Amino acid sequence: MSDYPSIGQQAKNLIQSVGNVVKNPYIVSDEVKQERLNICSLCEHHDYVMNRCRECGCFLNAKVIFAGNSCPIGKWNVIESDVPEINVEELDTELMVEDRD
Ligand code: SF4
Repeated sequence: MSDYPSIGQQAKNLIQSVGNVVKNPYIVSDEVKQERLNICSLCEHHDYVMNRCRECGCFLNAKVIFAGNSCPIGKWNVIESDVPEINVEELDTELMVEDRD
């Protein structure tokens, strides 16, 4: 039996995470990303093989980069939008411009 949340709960968690990113569309610095991953690596809910969180089901390499995301049990928190370095919307624009070249 899986020790992850049900598929339905994982879908709800993913939708919530997308909502967090829409509300706070920033990517954290490399330092913050590493701090978050370090906390996860010591957590009892960390799946080391898949690098996923068993509490929410999220893939941690993706989850930790977004400022609006947070640990579901409060081990690391949202970063307010004035702190992070890169706006996801600006990043999308830059990628679209690169695609046209
Ligand atoms: S997100 Fe939170 S609960 Fe999940 S592995 Fe990281 S520290 Fe643990």
